[in-house]
Parts: sequence; C-alpha cells; structure tokens
Amino acid sequence: MTVLHHNISTDMVLAADDHLIQSFSDLNALKQENARTVIVGANGAMVRDSGGRELIDGIGGLWCVNVGHGRREIIDAISNQLETLDFYSTFYNFTHPSAALLAHKIASLAPGDLNKVYFANSGSVANDTSIRILHHYNNRLGRPNKKKILSRIGAYHGSTYLAMTMTTPLYSQNWDTAPGLVHHLRLPHFWREGGDMTEHEFLDALVDDLKQNIENIGAENIAAFIAEPIMGAGGVIVAPDGYHTRMAAICRDNDIKYISDEVVTAFGRLGHFFASKDVFGVQPDIINTAKGLTSGYQPLSATIISDEIHDVISAPGGNFLHGMTYSGHPAAAAAGLANIALMENENIPERVRTTGKQFETSLRALADLDIVGEVRGSHFMIGIEFVRDKITKAPFDVTDQIGLKVSQAAQERGLIARPLGNILILSPTLIMTPDIIEKVADILRDSIEAVQKTL
Ligand code: PLP
Repeated sequence: MTVLHHNISTDMVLAADDHLIQSFSDLNALKQENARTVIVGANGAMVRDSGGRELIDGIGGLWCVNVGHGRREIIDAISNQLETLDFYSTFYNFTHPSAALLAHKIASLAPGDLNKVYFANSGSVANDTSIRILHHYNNRLGRPNKKKILSRIGAYHGSTYLAMTMTTPLYSQNWDTAPGLVHHLRLPHFWREGGDMTEHEFLDALVDDLKQNIENIGAENIAAFIAEPIMGAGGVIVAPDGYHTRMAAICRDNDIKYISDEVVTAFGRLGHFFASKDVFGVQPDIINTAKGLTSGYQPLSATIISDEIHDVISAPGGNFLHGMTYSGHPAAAAAGLANIALMENENIPERVRTTGKQFETSLRALADLDIVGEVRGSHFMIGIEFVRDKITKAPFDVTDQIGLKVSQAAQERGLIARPLGNILILSPTLIMTPDIIEKVADILRDSIEAVQKTL
C-alpha cells in the first residue's frame, strides 16, 4: 500500500474512485481492477503515479499544462489572490482587478479588433458563449433567422449540449444533440479523404462544399462557421494550406462570422499566443480559448469578440442575459495573468518554434514503421495514425484497439500518450528539452515495434 500524502493511501483513492464518473471513458471497463492510473504529483514535464513511477506527460495534462507542472510563479499568484480577494463575481456592475487586467492583456495579444473578452470556465462554455452572443447579435440586428452554424466532420468543440452539437456526430452516438441547428462540412483531411485528387483539387472541393452548403441553407440563415485551426480531439487533422483563408473569405462575402476555436492551439502550442492570424493568416470575428490560458492551473476560458460585435450587443435597448457565477473568478484570472507573464518572460511561444519543430521532426521519423500510416500535426500537437496496410491505408478494426495497445506499451516504458481509436495523440508540455523529446521518440518507436510484433 503506497501512502500518497496526508495519510491518504492508493487503496483509499481507488475505493473512492468507485464514486467518480470519469470523462470520455468506458464506464464498464473502469469497473475492472487496476483500470485506472492514479496521478499523485507532477513537476516540469513529468508526472508521478501512485506507484511512485515518473512518467513523461506526453499529453500536457489534457493539452493544457503548457508551461509545465509545478510553476511556483502561478501557484503563488493564485494563493496571493485568494488571500486578497477570494471571490467576487463579474455580474451586474461588479468587477475586480485580476479579471479586468487579464481581459486587457488578452485583448492586447489577440489579433485585430478582438478587444472584448468574456470569461467562463471551460472551452465548451466558451464555444457555447460565442454562439449565444452571435444569436443575440443577430436578434439585435433584426435578423432572427440568421442562427444556423457551420461546423465540420472531425471537429471537437466540447461537451455541453450546444458544443457537442457542433462537434463531429461520431462523438454523440447514443447521445442527443440539438436538431437542425448545425451543418457539418467535409473533413479537411487530404491523406484520408483526398482520393485521386491533388491537394489543391481537394482544397477546391472543400471550398465548394462550403459554397454548396451556404447555397442550400441560405446565407441569411447562417450565423457562423466554427473551426479549430488544427483539429485536435478529432485526430489532429491539419487542413490543406490556404484552407482557412479561403473559407474565411467566403464567410466574409456571405456575412457569416468566422469563429476560431483556439482552445488548444493558443498560448504557445503552435509557437504563437494565437494561431489564427500568426500561423494561418486569418482574422476571426471571435476566438474562443481555454486550456493554455492558465496552463491548466485553474479552470478558465475566454470568448474574445470583435469591437463590431460588441458595438451591436452593447447598443442601447438590450441586456447581456448571459452569466456564470465563476466568470472571471479572481484565482483563475490571477493564474492567467501569471501564466502569460511567465510565457512572455521565458519566450515560450518563440522557443516552441524551435523545440516544437524538433518534436515534430523526431515524431515524423516514426513514419518508417510498418503500421504507421501518417504522422501529422505541427509543433507540440501531433497525431500518429496506425494502419493495417501502409499502401492501401486500410485501417485496423476498432476491436484491435491499436491506439490503446500502443499507449499502454508507452506507459509501461514511461510515457503518457492518448489513444483515440487507431490514432495516438501527443500534446505535451511546451517546456520539453531536446533530451526528453528524443526520449519520447525512442519510447514511441519501442512501443510501436513491440505492438507490431504481436500482430
Ligand atoms: N474545443 C477544443 C478544440 C477542444 O480541444 C476542447 C477540449 O479538448 C474543447 C473545445 C472543450 O474544452 P473543455 O474540455 O475545457 O470544455
């Protein structure tokens, strides 16, 4: 029996875990003994499990611990904030320094005229908020029918009712979503979906799909197009070059707002504070972000809207009837401020342009392995898709649980990676040194080879 801390043992945690419903899990499988990994501590790029093993955190908590674990600057900022002002809300006319300062800071980092910030506590709610704001915006403009949303197959936007409705339908099998509100455009994945087309022809086909949907639904009925700069939980899908700018141009021509879901891609993961403009050349009307905003030290999300949208919703004659008690929570806002200061002081986004590229290059080298079909992604956001046949790209059967097997092999070798069907996802802390990066690549090669041998 391992004693974790304050007389809490592993056995006590596992017994208590019988009461905890875990997210995105097979609840039946979790009934088996030893099905859970109990993480009890973390430092830098590493975490420690209840058996005392140090593991490389290859998923950065959950795509979020960007500055690494255990950063004193953020922990102190949170505790100092709690000592000064533990809680006050941002309802009505109340405000407090940390929420106001963080909103100001985010506005200074966000591209163009994205100057107004609404806080919530998850990426899901940030995405919901952006849709509620746009629906209200169109009501205020006297366009009550302009409400539908264009999303994409493969997208992940969260687990509230609305965010899940915008998410790829695969994620809501056996669950319900809001009927008729969201239309899903084609998956922009050339390697899987391109067929005989060149990448450029495939891009044209994706653009045509958008145009066709606008024609069918009517631009007067469509409020927004929502897109992750790189799809994350849908399997790390990078759209063809120029995709976002072409989609954004068509949206603009049709008076459809472009929402960039930067819950994952912001705060350094792709080498910039925000990826929409700096990496993909797009000026969105709204950016939603969360995760790396506090590096996961506190739950916090931001919906960042343009001055133009704000002018409409703040015009006389209406009320902003939207609120969460913890919107802009002082401790979360303090964590956000300290996290951004740390990123700026240590030039983390800039460093990622080098270390993230090293990470990407080391993992791309795994493409020579027999069952690796595609290694894709960018910087510290990588997906490895396994195939039964490299030439035909024939996928493994879901029952082969290939991603799970590789992730288990990796964990035995000291690396946490996330399985997603036939895909393995890596979204680590952004502070990994070249030697840890090499270690990750070595562990993955060993693990994939070990699983290959069993096939
Ligand atoms: N949007 C994207 C792109 C995400 O990856 C996620 C979560 O992984 C979400 C939204 C939902 O964020 P949250 O889990 O904080 O609700």
